[in-house]
Amino acid sequence: MNMAQVQRMSRLMAKTLRDDPADAEVLSHKLLVRAGYVRRTAAGVWSWLPLGMKVLSNVERIVREEMDAIGAQEVLLPALLPREPYDATGRWDEYGQELFRLKDRKGGDYLLGPTHEEIFTLLVKDQVSSYKDLPVTLYQIQNKFRDEARPRAGVLRGREFLMKDSYSFDTEDEGLARSYALHREAYQRIFTRLGLDYRICAATAGAMGGSKSEEFLAPAEAGEDTFADCPHCDFAANTEAVSHALKPVDGSAVPALEEIPTPDTPTIETLAASLGVPASATLKNLLVKVDGEIVAVGVPGDREVDLDKVEAHFAPAAVELVTAEDFTGREDLVRGYVGPQGLEKVTYIADPRVAPGTAWITGANKEHTHARNVVAGRDFEVDAYVDVVVVQEGDPCPNCGTGLKLDRAIEIGHIFQLGRKYADAMKLDVLGQNGKPVRVTMGSYGVGVTRAVAALAEQTADDKGLCWPAEVAPADVHVVAAGKAAQTELALEVSEQLAAKGVRVLVDDRAGVSPGVKFTDAELIGVPWILVAGRRTAEGVVELKDRRTGEREELPVAEAVARLT
Ligand code: ATP
Ligand code: MG
Ligand code: MG
Ligand code: MG
Repeated sequence: MNMAQVQRMSRLMAKTLRDDPADAEVLSHKLLVRAGYVRRTAAGVWSWLPLGMKVLSNVERIVREEMDAIGAQEVLLPALLPREPYDATGRWDEYGQELFRLKDRKGGDYLLGPTHEEIFTLLVKDQVSSYKDLPVTLYQIQNKFRDEARPRAGVLRGREFLMKDSYSFDTEDEGLARSYALHREAYQRIFTRLGLDYRICAATAGAMGGSKSEEFLAPAEAGEDTFADCPHCDFAANTEAVSHALKPVDGSAVPALEEIPTPDTPTIETLAASLGVPASATLKNLLVKVDGEIVAVGVPGDREVDLDKVEAHFAPAAVELVTAEDFTGREDLVRGYVGPQGLEKVTYIADPRVAPGTAWITGANKEHTHARNVVAGRDFEVDAYVDVVVVQEGDPCPNCGTGLKLDRAIEIGHIFQLGRKYADAMKLDVLGQNGKPVRVTMGSYGVGVTRAVAALAEQTADDKGLCWPAEVAPADVHVVAAGKAAQTELALEVSEQLAAKGVRVLVDDRAGVSPGVKFTDAELIGVPWILVAGRRTAEGVVELKDRRTGEREELPVAEAVARLT
């Protein structure tokens, strides 16, 4: 057994805070900041302090071990990327405002990688020439950059965040199916080892393109995804995917344009009615085309709106474009949108730009401008209903008919069968068995590493603080010196004994800090075991406490050490 390290709180760079940060809405954000794991550097940009770094490294290690176990090879590609490959696939433009674009001193266009399909495709094109070299799976654990419209909830949604992304390359469709299945199993092992409660949900591929795609969702109140969960069978799906399953889009369910009434007062409810969906339906990423180009109506999402196009298209008398100023100081006007659970997206209440009862056009454009009084059918062509979500609590499960439950969850991982979309764009061929070129088929697979830390905090914390599962905890035991010099000496001695046996120790040896404060901090920090060297116990006796259950026991030092090794 290797000697482990003793981390002394007297020297630790981690100041615990009594109060929640003012801007924090969700539990993991509050606790990770209060317990001294992370500090905010800018909106959606976070610094990881020593305790946070330990947890993050543990998550990384588990991810790495499971990726290596399926034969994936680790690489590290740059985050600063040239524009050209993203032009080749169209994503330089398609990615919209979420993409961080920048120029170098010579005026050349660059971006900060939000995901790396293009660059991995080029790497393989450069390195691999024959089918004999395939299949190959490459991965990296690297910071990604996305200029999220609403960076919120701490590290749960960052603008710079750590992701494990991997990419598989095969010549045959069956090969891709195998690579995908291997990833699916690796992800199951990763999330199980992390101690996360999760579901695998069918998803729509969205902006990534391609065919089959599944999301790994961790049920939590703080989650931004709504998913349908069958209490009877193992069916679980992203609400978008269920709406497809429940109501296939064959055109027949869509009312003809002329049948869409023009409501007097356009509201989300009347818009819903005009589209023939229940008033309580979640209008999410409802696709609408203006001049053949997709814009979005409903909630602010990832999709782009080209405002010039929208403006030019609308009847100017009817539709007002509203800007942030219109709503400054009018927070009373601000609401989310109506969903199956009533008002959803409550965080949107903090966005002082959208009035309740307004149908608005929105996108992640810089001005974040919205359009007021928009009427479907009158002001724009409504011709794509594919993403209107109409799933409601109690709708029958497509598998077994049992009433579905709708729950909130955090997307912690996502796997895609991309197929040949990227290989086509970048002309990625290898020499086939018959001597002719074969187009390669790809998969891409992501785990939100920093997000997994927050998701775990969400699922495991209690009213006293964080409460980590053993494998990711920043230490195995938190030793508290609760008394005078004699107790500190005992605490340090026990710590050394434990460390010698390979136990990772955090010891609170701070002078001039009361035992009460130390106990509160220990519970906030959330290491699985708390060992107290206090004045109330007999000499050579310590108290061992289970952080989760709160159960405590007094033991002679040797026995406590034995218990922890
Ligand atoms: P979301 O729906 O939450 O915006 P996404 O679908 O855009 O996520 P993917 O492109 O599928 O994300 O990226 C793979 C994984 O990276 C996600 O499953 C998630 O765990 C993580 N991730 C994505 N965006 C962020 C972010 N802004 N902050 C932290 N983790 C993120
Ligand atoms: Mg996203
Ligand atoms: Mg998503
Ligand atoms: Mg995703």
